[in-house]
Amino acid sequence: MTVNHGARSQIWHPFTQHQLEPAFKKIVQTQGAYLLDEDGRSILDAISSWWVITHGHRHPRITKAIHDAVEQLDQVIFAEYSHHAAEELARGLLDLAPAELAHVFFSDSGSTSVEVALKMALGMHHNRGSPRSRIVVMEHSYHGDTIGTMSIGARGVFNAAYEPLLFDVAHISFPAPGLQQRTLDQLEAHCRCGDVAAFIVEPLVLGAGGMKMYPSHLLKEFRRITTTHQTLLIADEVMTGWGRTGTLLACEQAGISPDILCLSKGITGGALPLAVTLSTSEIFDAHLSDNRSRMFFHSSSYTANPIACAAAAANLKVWREEPVVSRIRQVEGMHREWLAKFRTDPRFDNVRQHGTIAALDLAIAAKGYLSEVGPKLRTFFRDKDLLIRPLGNVIYLMPPYCVTEQDLRRAYEAIDEAADFIELMS
Ligand SMILES: *Cc1c(COP(=O)(O)O)cnc(C)c1O
Repeated sequence: MTVNHGARSQIWHPFTQHQLEPAFKKIVQTQGAYLLDEDGRSILDAISSWWVITHGHRHPRITKAIHDAVEQLDQVIFAEYSHHAAEELARGLLDLAPAELAHVFFSDSGSTSVEVALKMALGMHHNRGSPRSRIVVMEHSYHGDTIGTMSIGARGVFNAAYEPLLFDVAHISFPAPGLQQRTLDQLEAHCRCGDVAAFIVEPLVLGAGGMKMYPSHLLKEFRRITTTHQTLLIADEVMTGWGRTGTLLACEQAGISPDILCLSKGITGGALPLAVTLSTSEIFDAHLSDNRSRMFFHSSSYTANPIACAAAAANLKVWREEPVVSRIRQVEGMHREWLAKFRTDPRFDNVRQHGTIAALDLAIAAKGYLSEVGPKLRTFFRDKDLLIRPLGNVIYLMPPYCVTEQDLRRAYEAIDEAADFIELMS
């Protein structure tokens, strides 16, 4: 097949093999759970545009807050000066977060919020003169695409080229049913060595690793073990935060507080890029000194962008003043009913749900074939005006909370058909 490159855009898209993809349709408008493309097709955004949109596209209050903010401010330096939107947002975040978290550091993406978390952990130990630098991570984790966050994430074809530059970390296995004690024992064994700075984990759901889910009582155990050995617990809630797992934060379901909490994606309702890393006073205080060499050495140019902060402050108001939790309960209930139908279906394995995230694995044996399943399914769903991007043979739905019963019916009926389609192809 020859591709007419002349007609093509010069844009290099993320996670895209351009040789194998058709030219991308342009999205010209978004509204609620839908994307409108240049041909006038209305596409159900069943994965919240890569997990960022929480309430729905262009939530009126968030959109208005952005309009109002641009009348006052654009970017302003965030050393030497502060601004009201950041102050309001920081106070609001600390009101919502577990009481142990006392400080808010701003950045601009999930990956950066995790890099900041790692630097905070190492910085605390360094400044105390007892350097610990080992990081413990869970198998199948994803924490971002920078060199640092790839180092602490699962290794695979997506980071093979960069492997020589990635640093070593200690691993614990994913706590699959029946193997949970093994995971806890591994964590205990690593932490007991006394050189572990931090254990970083995605609470309840490992997103990019394949929507792998584990129960909340394990989070409690992670907290107990790390506390015992003075190892910092970093919760990467970049994906799980903002209601995805049924509560504002996934950590709430275990009643625990991490030492460091990373938030991004849904922090602005998905409208603008922003991230925060929350820390305890203990970590902040370890950077407090008469000595400038002990300050926290990190900044992004767009730290605490005032327009993004205004969007996030409006998002907090939405959470406080609108029935967000009852919308989430409705989505949860709809998923539960549909998934029940698939639970005994031999075409699917591992039917699972945490809150508004529903996932099921296509029961296909041919491993080599797996890599082709994802793109085939994507095309299948796209032809039905559904944005669903399976992770290999893992099909999942993570819709915005305004999604309706009819919307989800369409998505689940398509998943049902997709299983037959894949069987016919194999
Ligand atoms: C998406 C994600 C990140 C990275 O966020 P970016 O904004 O894409 O850099 C980090 N951690 C988790 C758990 C994520 O899902």
